[in-house]
Amino acid sequence: MKVALVTGGSRGIGAAAAVELAKLGYAVAVNYKSNIEAAKSVCREISESGGIAEAFQADISDSDALDRMFSDIHSSLGEISVLVNNAGVAYIGLLQDMNDEEIKNLSDVNLMGAMLTTKRAVPDMIKRHDGVVINIASMWGEVGASCEVVYSACKAGIIGFTKALSKELGPSGIRVNCVSPGVIDTDMNSELTDETISELCEETPLLRIGTPTDVGKTIAFLASDEASFITGQVISVNGGII
Ligand code: NAP
Repeated sequence: MKVALVTGGSRGIGAAAAVELAKLGYAVAVNYKSNIEAAKSVCREISESGGIAEAFQADISDSDALDRMFSDIHSSLGEISVLVNNAGVAYIGLLQDMNDEEIKNLSDVNLMGAMLTTKRAVPDMIKRHDGVVINIASMWGEVGASCEVVYSACKAGIIGFTKALSKELGPSGIRVNCVSPGVIDTDMNSELTDETISELCEETPLLRIGTPTDVGKTIAFLASDEASFITGQVISVNGGII
């Protein structure tokens, strides 16, 4: 059975991606940082539907934790065929009000974490001449958002990382793509008021915000053989808002 690793698979978009990848027949490694109960609940949902999933703790910005997690996944499930770099954190506020630690933490998780994780996943893919990397960016990485400057810069970096890595790894039979969500109904947006959500719905041509499953199904498509000639692309899942 092929193995997919979803970072930040315990909640939101990552949890939906884990469920959709399990439906495609992948054994799913569900990574989480601290919410073990949520991660176990995703694994339970998958196993109750006849799939295989296991939770693996690691802060993706911590190299030692990543080394431990990759070794555990290897022993428990096997080599990784699909990597979904989904784990992320948001920060809303003016750049000048952020302290240096907050700026560093945001970059360490949203940009550096994806690079540190990918570098550990690709050697096995290169050896097999087969693999898929799917990075999760954001519409703010495409157009920029006031009060989310560092987050936007990290997500723009994820788009650049995707395009460059697809060129580096294409000859090794590995596809690298990026999914760029718009506003999706997850914990990340739990502080938005009902009024703000309705305004966002009105601004969106499809008149709603997205669900984690909207994004999860796109991730599963990109992981599948149906997408075998797609690499280096940014696929926006945003209801047309930008
Ligand atoms: P979410 O509901 O807040 O879930 C975040 C997930 O990331 C959780 O599973 C969390 O684990 C994990 N995580 C956070 N920091 C981590 C770390 N250092 N190491 C490992 N795991 C970590 O977020 P979401 O809305 O689903 O977002 C998923 C991705 O989509 C993010 O990259 C986000 O930037 C992007 N995105 C989201 C939206 C949106 O509107 N929601 C829009 C565009 C892009 P724990 O459960 O253990 O805390």
